[in-house]
Amino acid sequence: MKEKILSALSAARDEVIFLQQSMTRFPAFGPNEGGIGEFHKAEWIEKLVRSWGVNAIEHYDAADERVPSKIRPNMVIRHKGKSEKTLWIVGHMDVVPPGNESLWKTSPFEAVLDEDDSDIIRGRGVEDNQQAIVSGLLILHELVKNSYEPDLSFALLLVSDEETRNTFGINHVLKENPNLIKKDDLVLVPDFGTKEGNLIEIGEKGVLWLKIEIEGRQCHGSTPDEGINAFVAMSDMVLQIKKIEDFFTERNELFSPTRTTIVPTRHTENVPNVNTISGKEIFYLDCRILPEHDTQTVIGKVRELSAEIERKHSVSIQISVDNLEESSPETNADAEVVQKLKKAIFETYGLMCKTGGVGGATVGCKIRSLGIPVAVWSSAIPNYHQPNEGSRISNAIGDAKTFARLLFN
Ligand SMILES: [Zn+2]
Repeated sequence: MKEKILSALSAARDEVIFLQQSMTRFPAFGPNEGGIGEFHKAEWIEKLVRSWGVNAIEHYDAADERVPSKIRPNMVIRHKGKSEKTLWIVGHMDVVPPGNESLWKTSPFEAVLDEDDSDIIRGRGVEDNQQAIVSGLLILHELVKNSYEPDLSFALLLVSDEETRNTFGINHVLKENPNLIKKDDLVLVPDFGTKEGNLIEIGEKGVLWLKIEIEGRQCHGSTPDEGINAFVAMSDMVLQIKKIEDFFTERNELFSPTRTTIVPTRHTENVPNVNTISGKEIFYLDCRILPEHDTQTVIGKVRELSAEIERKHSVSIQISVDNLEESSPETNADAEVVQKLKKAIFETYGLMCKTGGVGGATVGCKIRSLGIPVAVWSSAIPNYHQPNEGSRISNAIGDAKTFARLLFN
């Protein structure tokens, strides 16, 4: 049966195109970005699998007044195997907005085949994260068509709100049901991949974004003594940020770079004309924090520096947290899911994988915080969040075959 399912998956090109085109029609970005959310996309997926005869569907929807449906859907679609032990594929239904539409060669919410390479389908969301959902649905469809009971049970967990902080997505699901995923289940999050395809992500740094507002006193450029130049104070602070990074001396070889990073990134426009001395500046720090470091210590260090700058420049400084996703303990490279995935990737793609950590956060981080091992991996172009986002049809199929192998002992 394993071989029958694998060979059926190899022939699923038309189904991949159908699934990608159908899902891309829903502009499923969240209300933070002015979108209507994932409701209609989830509804379409649910109808589809019910039409296949799948009825084991659980909802962990989150209420959200900001979207027309008032619902941010989260659901588990199951197929029973011989054992309770479950192979999970976790995908997120939300997408990021198209961004500057003039950079798109085709309409972002109509998935089309690439003109030069018919293995690539393009549209917003096709890679991030519909490719994962497609792979999961392909497996589910084959199991259902063949009324087949694999060794392990299969579950597709589809969540909302991944792109804007997970409050209404995985965080809500795990709060409602912390025992949903069992410690010996195999959990795959296909939401990260390198060009080579040979890195299984087993750890994530914490993400902290700080907003720093510096208040001085605005005045005319010809009379600088009458004001307090916030731009100068900000620049002084920016140049000293490296000092904070240097304070955190531990290194972790799982990650590249191996250190906690703290970098000034965004700066908002200050004054519109050259002859005005700026009385207010706003800039941001993007911090990627190793699991061995504590977020509050990083914030404390930034506060210490800001107090120094306040004294030196007679400004006042406000620091606020713009985004915070705590790191979680990394998954052991010897964990069953990592070892089995490695073997399956080799069988499908002939690739020898290594394990490593990344600086971003996926839903895997939240699941790991419950002490559950998670492997984050997919075959990717990768071009997440880019205009003309593309996904290889052969990647969706190859990944489906890879994941399906884990259902068999
Ligand atoms: Zn994603």
